[in-house]
Amino acid sequence: MDKKWGDKRYYNLNYFLRNKFGCKVFKISLDAGFSCPNRDGTISKGGCIFCSERGSGDFAGDSKFSIKNQFNNIKSMMNKKWKEGKYIAYFQAYTNTYAPITILKRKYEEAINQEDVVALAIATRPDCLGEEVLDLLEYINKKTYLWVELGLQTVNDKTAKIINRGYDLKVFEKALSDLRNRNIDVVVHSIFGLPGEDKKDMIRTVKYLSTKDIQGIKFHLLHLIKGTPLMSLYENGELEFLDQNQYVNIICESIGMMSPDIVIHRLTGDAPRNLLVGPMWSLKKWEILNSIDKNLKDKDIFQGMYFNFTKNTLD
Ligand code: SF4
Repeated sequence: MDKKWGDKRYYNLNYFLRNKFGCKVFKISLDAGFSCPNRDGTISKGGCIFCSERGSGDFAGDSKFSIKNQFNNIKSMMNKKWKEGKYIAYFQAYTNTYAPITILKRKYEEAINQEDVVALAIATRPDCLGEEVLDLLEYINKKTYLWVELGLQTVNDKTAKIINRGYDLKVFEKALSDLRNRNIDVVVHSIFGLPGEDKKDMIRTVKYLSTKDIQGIKFHLLHLIKGTPLMSLYENGELEFLDQNQYVNIICESIGMMSPDIVIHRLTGDAPRNLLVGPMWSLKKWEILNSIDKNLKDKDIFQGMYFNFTKNTLD
């Protein structure tokens, strides 16, 4: 087996971080208390139909506390288990470029000034990256290693409407080129199992992203969370969950298609047990990850092995 990425058959985040920083690097998820234009009525009030009450930041710190306090509380809990390491301050909950520029600057700087922080990760929407924000991100990128996460979820505009994403693919493409023109790394989220999508649709998203100038990807399984608008589709019988085998097979195929230069940050997501309606098998995260490793090995798949084929068969 090729030892290019340690003991994994894909370019995994741990491998990337260890190589870049020379030590173990942990992520600390923060909630800066921002909102989202897709929830506050600017674009819509409903939000993306899968988005939880905490703006997809269910494991982030508590926005009642300052960035500094959230960071240090989580860090000291982590220190009990792992004594050494560096940290990525991760602005995860809601839309983290959606606030007045002075507030954004203050919060980002508060985060990167904490001890042992080596990087900043900012999750946002592609339609919240105006010139002023881009200038600020460029400035931050010169001070520390930065990546920006964009929640694309799917390349299919028809699905984007169903999930109430609130922007179309052209908006994503502009944001991506604006960020890359400023040399800022981009990590894209995609979700498998969205309503109305079959395997062909999911693979279309993978193929599209594989050929883009992105530096990282997060693969997620669609989680049905209590209290989200997705519940009504489920109750009307309009949502079918992927089963574990289907998911593992799609992930393995996607790994084979993904450019070997793109870091895979995630192969499945986390959902709070008390809020998850389904699929319940997704709670067994280690079993899923082991099953992906096994499947890759059994089929002798490596990241990028179908990449040339991917490039030549784009829709
Ligand atoms: S853009 Fe993010 S925070 Fe806003 S509704 Fe969608 S998933 Fe939730």
